[in-house]
Amino acid sequence: MEVTSNRFRISPFLGEFRDSAEERAFRQHMQPAMVRHTRIALKAWATCLLLFGFLDYLGLGMSPVFLTLMGTRILIAALIFAYGYVLLSKPHLATAGHCTMALQIFGFSFFYLIYVLRPEVATFTVGVIGLLFISMFIFIPNRLVYTLIAALTGLIGTLLTMVMAGRPTVIVFGAFVLLMSPILVGFLATQRLQIVQRQQYAMFTRANDANKELQAEIERRKVLEQELSRQATTDPLTGLFNRRQYESLFDRERERSKRNGGHLSLCVADIDFFKRVNDEHGHDAGDQMLKHVAGLFTSALRQSDIVGRFGGEEFILLLPDTSLDDAAVVVNRLRQKLSASPLAVADGQIAVTATFGLTEVGNSDSSIEDVIRRADKALYEGKTGGRNKVVPVPC
Ligand code: GH3
Ligand code: MG
Ligand code: MG
Repeated sequence: MEVTSNRFRISPFLGEFRDSAEERAFRQHMQPAMVRHTRIALKAWATCLLLFGFLDYLGLGMSPVFLTLMGTRILIAALIFAYGYVLLSKPHLATAGHCTMALQIFGFSFFYLIYVLRPEVATFTVGVIGLLFISMFIFIPNRLVYTLIAALTGLIGTLLTMVMAGRPTVIVFGAFVLLMSPILVGFLATQRLQIVQRQQYAMFTRANDANKELQAEIERRKVLEQELSRQATTDPLTGLFNRRQYESLFDRERERSKRNGGHLSLCVADIDFFKRVNDEHGHDAGDQMLKHVAGLFTSALRQSDIVGRFGGEEFILLLPDTSLDDAAVVVNRLRQKLSASPLAVADGQIAVTATFGLTEVGNSDSSIEDVIRRADKALYEGKTGGRNKVVPVPC
């Protein structure tokens, strides 16, 4: 059965992804498990090879044939153990598969030797070879094509050995039919396994990808939400809080100061002769000036202070935990700083000052409008009194 998406199409014969990059990624994903399973299978293979030497001994005693076979067993077992050891530092060999295949092909040659040297157990040897065919498909993880090549090489080697040992054609043909069945069963079982493994991997990868996309979408939405909330709460030109936002922050601060019995001061600031800036330098320079003043207010005040744009060139400053006297000191410093910070424009500098009406929020104030009205009156006094002034009024 094939997976429908193009990216994860599986070849039904070899049980591998058609897309070579996907196949590589799959093998990379499987590598640790493959190394583990291959090493277990190699240990079992080498141990069986050595243990079966005992049967040789029972049949042959300490004869030269036994010693030859035992020597070969030890040599091949050593090679298998060595390969298992090498896999620890070179795990990619397990996933590449050709070394495993070469070892299997070489391992079979031992059985040709047994077949020749121990004709009395020849039938038994062919049976063991059949068992090996099915075992290598099922227990030694490898690419299906390599296991198939190793098995067919083993089959041809066995049949050739039988022919060279002078077995009648009918026996050789019988062995061929007999040995083809474990190869076929092993091949089909492994083919199913390889396909199912890849289907699982495809599902896992898709779920993973969908998850990543979801995470990215959540991040995008968070950024969008922040941007929307910023747009809803700030003035686009200066980036200061808009009326709705500073009014709600005023309510919050007022509640807090009521609870803590602290002070809360409010100031209305108005740029002096701002019309002139527009008239003499243009509306753009006027906008620049508004940004300039907003930046200066924000950077000069405390993080906890609240700066909002009240109207055209008027600003609201909310100073939590600050009494009227302390606020007058702070705002005076701000006024001096502003008057010492002209706006740089292409054709020179534009001097800037502002007048500040300041008051403290009192218990009798029922809303922010009451407080602003009082601060506005003080501001008017400052304007009529010569501008570039801070005028505090108690509540
Ligand atoms: P005063 O010292 O009495 O405050 O003099 P003024 O010229 O600043 O007078 P007023 O406060 O009445 O002037 C407000 C001017 O601000 C009117 C308008 O042209 C200008 N203005 C309001 N909003 C903006 C704006 O967003 N950008 C620019 N460039 N100008 C604005
Ligand atoms: Mg004004
Ligand atoms: Mg003004």
